Amino acid sequence: MIDFEGISEFIKGIELTNIKQVDMGEVDEVLDIALEAKGLSLQQVAVLLSDLAEEQESRLYNAALEIKKRIYGNRLVMFAPLYVTNECTNGCLYCGFSKDNNQLERKTLSIEETINEIRSLEAEGHKRILLVAGEHPKYSNVQKVSEYIKSIYEQTGIRRINVNMAPLEIEEFQILKKAGIGTYQLFQETYHPKVYSEMHPYGKKADYNYRLYGPTRAITAGIDDVGIGALLGLFDYRFELLALLQHANSLEKDTGVGPHTISIPRLKPAEGASFKYTRYPITDQQFKKVVSILRLAVPYTGIILSTREKPELRDELLNLGISQLSAGSSTSPGGYAQKVTHSAQFEVDDHRTLNEMLKSICSTGMLPSFCTACYRRNRTGHDFMDLAKTGEIKEFCQVNAILTFKEHLLDYGDKQLKEIAAKVLQEEISRIRDKKLRALAKQKLSLTEQGLRDQHI
Ligand code: SAM
Ligand code: SF4
Repeated sequence: MIDFEGISEFIKGIELTNIKQVDMGEVDEVLDIALEAKGLSLQQVAVLLSDLAEEQESRLYNAALEIKKRIYGNRLVMFAPLYVTNECTNGCLYCGFSKDNNQLERKTLSIEETINEIRSLEAEGHKRILLVAGEHPKYSNVQKVSEYIKSIYEQTGIRRINVNMAPLEIEEFQILKKAGIGTYQLFQETYHPKVYSEMHPYGKKADYNYRLYGPTRAITAGIDDVGIGALLGLFDYRFELLALLQHANSLEKDTGVGPHTISIPRLKPAEGASFKYTRYPITDQQFKKVVSILRLAVPYTGIILSTREKPELRDELLNLGISQLSAGSSTSPGGYAQKVTHSAQFEVDDHRTLNEMLKSICSTGMLPSFCTACYRRNRTGHDFMDLAKTGEIKEFCQVNAILTFKEHLLDYGDKQLKEIAAKVLQEEISRIRDKKLRALAKQKLSLTEQGLRDQHI
C-alpha cells in the first residue's frame, strides 16, 4: 500500500488504491481501448498496473508492439549524451555528481574540449546529442550552456542539440530557445514530495514545485518540445508512472502542448553517492510493463531509453514502444575524445558502439534513424502533435529515416552493417504506401548515393 502522506495537490487525482486484482475481462477491455490509439485515462492505466497473469501480460506486450508499429513503424532515432560539466551545488543522494562526493574529480569542458568531444561522436556518425550538465551557477549557467550550443552548431555537423539541465526562469529559457535548443529535458526524479525531500536535502533542487513547473516555464518561453521523466527506483514505480501521466496531462491542459518525450531512467549505482540501496527496486519485468503501458497511454509521445539498461533488455524493449535510444554513451565530461572514465555520473550497462547497436537493430528488422528534420522545419510542439495524430508525420519520418540511415551507412558503415542494412532499407522503401512519396524517396536516395547530404522532407 502506498503512503499518501505528504502528497501534493498536483498528484491528488491519482487513485493508487484502485490498483487491485482485476479480472481478464477488465484488462482486455482496457487493451481494446488502447488499440484505438487515443491514449488511456489514469483509471485505465491503473487497471494495467495491477498484478497481471502471464497471459494478460503477454497481451499487454502485444498491444504495445501493435501501437508502436502503427504509429512509429520500424523507426528508432539514435542519439548520444554529451556531459559538459560534473560540477554541482546540489546534494542528490543518488547521483555521483552530488556536491558531497569528495572522491569525484570535477571537470568542466572548455569550448575547445567540447568540440573535440563532438568530433569523436561525429566520427561514429552521431548527428543528435543530448547536452547534460550538473547544476552550478558558474559552470552551467544559461549563458555558458548557450555558448556550448552555439559553438557546437557553428563548428560541427551536429544537427540537433537537446539539453538536460536544471530548471530555469522563463527569461532564461528564452535565451536557450534563441541559442537553438531542441528538446528541453527535465526529470522530476520522484513525484512523491516526501521522498523527494529526503533525496534532495539541500541546494536549488530541494524545491519540488520549482522543478515540477520547470517544463511549463520552458513551454511558456517558447520551447515547444519538452521531455519529462522519473528516476525509477526512488519510490513505487506504479505511483511514479501514474504521476508522470498526470504531469503530461496537466502540461497539456495548462499550455496546450503535452510532453514531446518521456524518459524512464532506472536508478543505477553511482560511485561516491551516499544512497546505494533502493527500497523500491524495479525488476526487469516491471520495467517492461512500464514501457508497454506508456506506449499505450501516450501513443504519440516519444519514449527514450538510455544505456543504463543491459543489452538484452534494451533489445527487448525496442519492441515494446521505445522510439529513441542512445548508444556508445559516456557519462563523464571528456569521456569520448579524452576517454575519461573516472568522473562518471553513474555506471552504464550497454557498452556497444553505435555501429554495433545499429547492427543489432537492423538484425531485428528495425530501421535506425538519424533524422533531425522536424525541429529544423518547425514541426514542433502543437504542430508536431497535429501531424502525428493524423498519421501524416509517420510518412515524413519514414522517408527521412531511410535517407539519414543511408547517409550514415555510406559515411560510417562497415561492410557487415551495410549488408545487414541493405535488406532493411529495401523493405522500408517498399512499405512507403504513397506512390509519389516512394518515388521521391528513391530519387533522394540516389542523390545521397551521389554525395548529397542532409536531405529531408
Ligand atoms: N543536473 C540536472 C538535473 O539534475 O536535472 C541535469 C543533469 S542530471 C546529470 C540528469 C539526470 O540523471 C537526473 O535528472 C537523474 O534522473 C539522472 N540520474 C542521476 N543519478 C542517477 C543514477 N544514479 N542512476 C541513474 N540516473 C541518474
Ligand atoms: Fe547535480 Fe543533477 Fe546529479 Fe542532482 S542529479 S547531483 S542536480 S547533476
